[in-house]
Amino acid sequence: MALSRQAASLLSSGSRRAHAFTSIHPAAAPVAFSRRLLSSLPRPHATPTTTTNTLKINNQLAPLSKAYSRSLFSSSSTLRMAHMVEGCPPLRLLLIGSPGAGKGTQSGRIQNNFEVSSISSGDLLRKNIAQGTDIGKRAAKEMKNGAFVSDEVIVKLIDSELGKLGAEQGWLLDGFPRTMTQAQTLDHTLDSLNQPLNLVIHLNVPEEVILQRIMDRWVHIPSGRVYNMTYNPPKHAGLDDVTGEPLERRPDDNPETFKIRLQKHHELTEPLLDYYKNKNILVSLAGNTSDEIYPQIRELLQTRFKPEESPSEVEGQGQA
Ligand code: ADP
Repeated sequence: MALSRQAASLLSSGSRRAHAFTSIHPAAAPVAFSRRLLSSLPRPHATPTTTTNTLKINNQLAPLSKAYSRSLFSSSSTLRMAHMVEGCPPLRLLLIGSPGAGKGTQSGRIQNNFEVSSISSGDLLRKNIAQGTDIGKRAAKEMKNGAFVSDEVIVKLIDSELGKLGAEQGWLLDGFPRTMTQAQTLDHTLDSLNQPLNLVIHLNVPEEVILQRIMDRWVHIPSGRVYNMTYNPPKHAGLDDVTGEPLERRPDDNPETFKIRLQKHHELTEPLLDYYKNKNILVSLAGNTSDEIYPQIRELLQTRFKPEESPSEVEGQGQA
């Protein structure tokens, strides 16, 4: 699919200016960097914020297992809901979305609020590059150019991470699978473990706002923590909130490479939406920012993860 006109114009107008700033050391002044860059880029058009409502989600989830779908949105019978949630398998979630859609940010928030482990293919690859492993050496060039790392390499990497998790452990995948071969291989592995994916959340963010977010992004490579200088800045400019270590710009976060990453996403990853839709486990959540989308994710996951409220609290909520 071709880039939208707005995104294409953002990409071309942002490229020269972005280059002028990417050489600034992250620890020097990321906020100043971000402000200057932002003021140099055209503002995205206003777009509707949240287009997916509960009813729509409910419809999409209807074919899910009865226990799961009823437990998520049945507001009038929450005691029964609690009972139903008990029987649910651990969350096995995939976050899918274009580059810059906020997969890393949402993954961090989900981990902070729910008991799930996260496996991020991008973070794993960046760690391997930083450590100079064979996988890192094989992946570095593709990543720098915005291409995909080979299915073989990435499948091996993720398989080994999945193998470290227990059957009762809830987890989420961020950035994997992103080709049909990867999706089918993952299904095969999970089916053989009798632990199939039970939810796929599509982060649906308009292309017009994504480039701006990418140019505003700083990361703590060892942990994968992501900061956005406008929406989610670190407490101290240029430093990770937890370790105090310097934040970095990703080498592939520039307009040229981003354009390739976006094209790869349209071409190779978007077909997975239909694949998971046909399996009745896809929910698409729309918004311009992670702050708009996260409450929808929380609502979706909350009922499932907090079944142990006292009966009075639970009934009160049910009547609200
Ligand atoms: P983003 O989603 O913003 O592109 P990621 O950190 O998920 O960022 O990925 C960064 C890069 O790592 C990708 O552009 C690609 O080169 C590589 N990569 C990550 N996950 C995969 C994957 N599942 N298959 C192939 N390449 C991947």
